[in-house]
Amino acid sequence: MATWKNKSPGDLSVELSEVSSGDVTAAVECAARERSKWGESSLDHRCEALKAAQAGLTEKKDSLAHGIALETGKPIKEAAGEIAAVIAKIDLAIADARKYLAEESFNDNPHENSVRRRPRGVAAVIGPFNFPIHLAHGAIVAYLLAGNTVVFKPSPLAANVCAQYGRIMTDALGPAFQIVQGGATEGQQLVTHPAVRSVCFTGSVAAGRAIARAVVDDVGKDVALELGGKNAAIVCRDADLDLAATAIAEAMCLTAGQRCNSTSRVIVDREVEADLIDRLKAKLAKFAPGDPLKESTRLGPLISDAAKQKYLAAIARPQDWIIRGGAPETVGGKRGHYVLPAVVRLSHADRANPLLTEEIFAPVLAIVASQSEQQSLDLTNATPFGLTASIFTADRERFLRMSRQIDCGNVYMNLPTTFSPGTLPFGGLKESGNRHPGGRGFIRFATDEQVLQMKR
Ligand code: NAD
Repeated sequence: MATWKNKSPGDLSVELSEVSSGDVTAAVECAARERSKWGESSLDHRCEALKAAQAGLTEKKDSLAHGIALETGKPIKEAAGEIAAVIAKIDLAIADARKYLAEESFNDNPHENSVRRRPRGVAAVIGPFNFPIHLAHGAIVAYLLAGNTVVFKPSPLAANVCAQYGRIMTDALGPAFQIVQGGATEGQQLVTHPAVRSVCFTGSVAAGRAIARAVVDDVGKDVALELGGKNAAIVCRDADLDLAATAIAEAMCLTAGQRCNSTSRVIVDREVEADLIDRLKAKLAKFAPGDPLKESTRLGPLISDAAKQKYLAAIARPQDWIIRGGAPETVGGKRGHYVLPAVVRLSHADRANPLLTEEIFAPVLAIVASQSEQQSLDLTNATPFGLTASIFTADRERFLRMSRQIDCGNVYMNLPTTFSPGTLPFGGLKESGNRHPGGRGFIRFATDEQVLQMKR
C-alpha cells in the first residue's frame, strides 16, 4: 500500500495529511453488490439522495473551496466558483435525467414497443487535479441518477480535498458511491476490473491512451475520454481588441494556465497584431502571482515542481519572447511553484514548433500573425488537439462560417476559450477526447438502450 503527503503548492512549508492508496477490488465489489438495489430504485429516490448530497456540499462549501486552494494552488475565488458549479450541477443533472432517461416509443412500428435506458452497472470515474471535484462530480451524478453505482478515483495531487468530498457523498448516498485513493496503478486496476462497465476519464492524453489500450479487449466496456487542449483565440481584423485582450489574458492565467480549455495560442490578423500585443501586455501586468488563499489573487502557483520544470523548459527555448516569464522563488515570503505569464511570437513557418502544438499546462502563450482567414483556420487546426477555440470578430456570419471549419468540440464568439459553463455539453475532438460530450447531457452515455417489442 503506497502512502504520500501533498504539500501546498502556494506554501511548500505546509504539509497535508498522509494519504494511503485504497483497495480497488474491495471498492468495485462493494459497488457491484449495491448495483441491483440502487439501479432498481426509482428515479425519485435517486434524485432525493442527490439532493441530500447537495445539501451536504452546500453546508461545507467554504471548507471545500479552501481545501482546493490549499492542496492544488487554485486561487480561492476560482475554487469557490468550482464548488458553486458542483452544487449547481446536481439540479442540472436531475433535469437531464428527467429528459434523457424517459422511455421512448415509435408509432411507425407494427408492434407495441419502447426503448428503455438501463444503467450499465458499475461506473469508474477518474479525475484530474485541476478541477479535482467538479469534473469528476459531473460524471458521478449523471451515472448515479441513471442508476449506476460509482467508484471514484481522484487525482493523488488532490487526495485530501477529494476525501472530504467523498465523505459528504458517502453520507448521502451510502455504498452506491465509493471513493478509492491512488495513482496510475489504481487507475489501471479500476478501469480493467471486469465488473466496471463504463469509464469516464478526465486527464492527459498519455493516461487516456493507456486506459483505452488497457480495455480494448473488453469490447462492451464504454470509455469516455476528456483529454488535453492547445486552444486558440483567433483575432480578426474587425475584432474589439480590448475585449479580445481581456479574454485572452484571463483564459491564459485562470488556474495558472492549467485548464484543458486555457488559451495557449493566439492567431491574429497581421493588421491588428501590434495593437493586440500592446493591449495584452497591459492586461497581463495585472496577473502577478499571489497566495492562492487570498481573495485578491488572480494567478496562483502551478501544481508541482514537475509542472514548473516543464514551464521553465518551455520558456528556455530560444525564440522571440515578448514577455519573458520566470519563476520567482518566493511570493509574499512563501516558497511555492510560482511562475509568471510568458508570451512568445512565432511565425507561420513555425507551425510545428512545440510551443504551438504541445500542451504546456502553464501560463505560456504563443502568438502568430495570420495573412488571411484561411491561414487562421489552417493554423487553428494544425495541432493534434480539438477542444476549444474562440473567434473574436464583429461579424456573426464570419463566426458561423469559420466555426464550421474548425475541428474543435467547442467554438465561441467573443468569449474566452475557458468559458465552458455546466449548462452546455463539453467535449473534445481529435486527441482532446473521444466525442463523448461531458457537461450537459453526459447522462446519455451513462445508460444502455434496451429495445422492447410486444406483438400486437
Ligand atoms: P493525468 O493524466 O496525469 O492524471 C489524471 C488522472 O488519471 C489522475 O487521477 C491519475 O492518477 C490518473 N492516471 C494517470 N495515469 C493513469 C493510467 N495510466 N491509468 C489510469 N489512470 C491514470 O492528468 P492531470 O495532470 O491530473 O490533469 C491535467 C490533464 O487533464 C491535462 O492534459 C488537461 O488538459 C486534462 N484535462 C482535460 C479536461 C477535459 O474536459 N477535456 C478537463 C480537465 C483536465
